[in-house]
Amino acid sequence: MSQKYVYFFGGGGAEGEGSQKTLLGGKGASLHEMCRLKLPVPPGFTLSTDVCQFFYQNGGSYPSGLVDEVQKHLARVEGLLGAKFGDPAKPLLVSVRSGAPASMPGMMDTILNLGLNATTVRALADQTQNPRFAYDSYRRFIQMYGEVVLGMGQYGFETALQDAKKKINVEADSELGAEDLQALVSIYLAQVEKETGRPFPTDPHEQLWGAVGAVFKSWMAPRAVSYRRIHKLPDTWGTAVNVQSMVFGNMGEDCATGVAFTRDPSTGEKKFFGEFLSNAQGEDVVAGIRTPQPINEGSTPPGAAPSRTMEAQFPGPYAELVNLYQQLEKHYRDMQDIEFTVQKGKLFLLQTRNAKRTASAAVRAAVEMVEEGLIQEDEAILRVSPAQVELLLHPRLDPRAAKQVIARGLPASPGAASGQVVFTSEEAERLKNEQKAVILVRHETSPEDIVGMDAAKGVLTALGGMTSHAAVVARGMGKPCVAGCGSISINYSAQQFTVAGHTIKAGDSITIDGATGEVMLGQVQTINSQLDKYFTRFMSWVDKRRKLGVRANADTPHDAKVARQFGAEGVGLCRTEHMFFESTRILAVREMILAANAEERARALDKLFPMQREDFIGIFKEMAGCPVTIRLLDPPLHEFLPKNEDEIRSTAVAMGISADTIRNKVRSLHEFNPMLGHRGCRLGITYLEIYEMQARAIIEAAAQVHFDVQKDPEPEILIPFVSTLEELRLLRERIEKVCEQTVARNHAKIAYSIGTMIEIPRAALIAEELAGHVSFFSFGTNDLTQMTLGLSRDDSGTFLPTYLEKGLLKSDPFVTLDQQGVGELMRIAAERGRKGLSSLKLGICGEHGGDAASVEFCHRLGFNYVSCSPFRVPVARLAAAQATLRS
Ligand code: PEP
Ligand code: MG
Repeated sequence: MSQKYVYFFGGGGAEGEGSQKTLLGGKGASLHEMCRLKLPVPPGFTLSTDVCQFFYQNGGSYPSGLVDEVQKHLARVEGLLGAKFGDPAKPLLVSVRSGAPASMPGMMDTILNLGLNATTVRALADQTQNPRFAYDSYRRFIQMYGEVVLGMGQYGFETALQDAKKKINVEADSELGAEDLQALVSIYLAQVEKETGRPFPTDPHEQLWGAVGAVFKSWMAPRAVSYRRIHKLPDTWGTAVNVQSMVFGNMGEDCATGVAFTRDPSTGEKKFFGEFLSNAQGEDVVAGIRTPQPINEGSTPPGAAPSRTMEAQFPGPYAELVNLYQQLEKHYRDMQDIEFTVQKGKLFLLQTRNAKRTASAAVRAAVEMVEEGLIQEDEAILRVSPAQVELLLHPRLDPRAAKQVIARGLPASPGAASGQVVFTSEEAERLKNEQKAVILVRHETSPEDIVGMDAAKGVLTALGGMTSHAAVVARGMGKPCVAGCGSISINYSAQQFTVAGHTIKAGDSITIDGATGEVMLGQVQTINSQLDKYFTRFMSWVDKRRKLGVRANADTPHDAKVARQFGAEGVGLCRTEHMFFESTRILAVREMILAANAEERARALDKLFPMQREDFIGIFKEMAGCPVTIRLLDPPLHEFLPKNEDEIRSTAVAMGISADTIRNKVRSLHEFNPMLGHRGCRLGITYLEIYEMQARAIIEAAAQVHFDVQKDPEPEILIPFVSTLEELRLLRERIEKVCEQTVARNHAKIAYSIGTMIEIPRAALIAEELAGHVSFFSFGTNDLTQMTLGLSRDDSGTFLPTYLEKGLLKSDPFVTLDQQGVGELMRIAAERGRKGLSSLKLGICGEHGGDAASVEFCHRLGFNYVSCSPFRVPVARLAAAQATLRS
């Protein structure tokens, strides 16, 4: 055999090394590396992932010569240990475990105690002077082998075990004696023969090949395939198989097994942390059959009764473990998760890997490792994922809390919240005033719900996608939102919703997790995250690295303030229509939209003008000295029109006209496709006075702030939904004229600029011409995605999940930029735009501005900034820094 397929480890050396994860799998690579470090690892060998790939490419067969090679390596293990496979006096027993290049916890199979048969079990009993242990190991082996290799169900084995306990009237497995277990072994063996039609294999070599084949087959087991789909891991990798001599933590009271972390995985604190079980096998710790004990005082949970620590019970092995963990962390330069076994007082390491940790632990450990000189700042920045930072900023579910999930929707805005169900905004507000926590449940939200959303702890909608009104507004508020939860059926008049056999009435408690899209029954405990000194330090390193500016999408002074606290360097998008959502204002907006003539419209605009000016003043003050991009009105009209009779009547009263007139007007304004209708600059063109009023309000506000705080505001006026040069030219001219007049009237020198949204594909294509009339482009990738993919922002929730499930789309294009299509248009627009104006500023203000992969893409295109909701600003800052480090 010319190619090497099997790699030996043990006896103070190894044929492989830690960097060979693709070839040896994560587990294999760590075993080889630990052996190179001369750590106490039981010897064994690894069949590489190449064997698995060969297996699948050749109809389940092995490379020729593999059997001989395995035999050779087995002989080396035997030589080292002075034991032999199947030996009637000193039998070698092995474990057979899978090990993929990336961790796939619990997804594939493991077999322990392989090599046992009627002869070797007796030898094991004699050798250890512990027949109970020997027969217990044997019955576990038969069960594992039966299930994993022979495809038998668990049921028969479990029933036989229960019967055995019933027979002698005991409850715990540990109360079964050697004879009971021996009898159970006979029952198991008979069961295998009856169910499979063949006796249980007694030849250890046959057992070994059966186990190896089963591990390779488990690579394509449905649960493993699904796991890879979810985590986007390739099927082509294959798994390695590790065959390793057994050590036993369950031979008696001088034995133990456990798991330890080099730092606390929940907090990141630098303290040795772990759990162990004496007289137990590794699986017992994981399976939670017995409660593990802390390895030291520091690992005892607060308030827990003191129990005997490993430090007290096994002082020698513990001291050695302390020494080894320090060595391992130094070597891997990262927090480790170590599996160990103590066999008759001797310590063995069975695995080490980079430890999974909570988001706050990730930040603290990274910062402290830099302080300790273990890693560099750049490395620390790459150690924390943007997703972890996102988690840090919101309350989340207590991982220890029990939960009953009743539905699943889109994870539209992260964070977890519990509260009583309410179906109207009024009710949300009323209960909030009574200090009650509520979750607002709606088919979808609309501008009138803004007050209810503000009052609620979280929002659940049955319809709508990731850029629906509910999603965008909730994200802006930093509130949890589960959107597009199609399985809930809401009945407003009965004040209830039903899902999966549950009826949830107004007043009942539910919990939503906007990071996963889960909806749960009752109140599930949540925990608040804290931004501590480690986070502040970490982010200061992040900001030194990034080239992209990070701004926030903020529509109110409050949002602007929050954004600033999260490190925003300006406002990248202030959606002025969102400023009209308040109930007092929405009437004026309706009057403006429904006005019969210019005079009526002027009256409505006069009402709106002072409100606009005040809002802008507030935002400019919060963002003093920073650029603030204000987008002129872009309301999808349908969102603002009165919908029900109540709203029609109140609008009629306010406007002093009949309800019928309103009804007729609403009918005449009805659009079949409002997203492509009379919105954005089209509205500004038909009613020029709207944009003129807004331009005046912006400049007057800027002038006032200029005089008040002596810090020059930098207003950037943004024209939305442009698709032709003529639209832009006309509007720019009118806006500029108003701005100049207002500047002159206020005697304040305001450095304002005018830009356009690039959110219609045609605008991207004519970017060179457009650039001649503006100073900046802001990419509205929500609409650009909608129009490039022909995918409705509001309606795609019904079929997009199927596309994702079937793998037809890798990710939701409203969440992560479709770089191939939408991204290509952005690239073209950036290139052509800068050709038209070399100093053109480029930014993104669609929801993608807070998505790490999309931020990296904007970095590659040489954008000036990204803009996202305030709570995602730190996420974007980190993503931008990582993009610099990776480029
Ligand atoms: C966009 O289309 O990306 C955008 C920012 O505008 P809106 O979401 O308000 O349409
Ligand atoms: Mg848009």
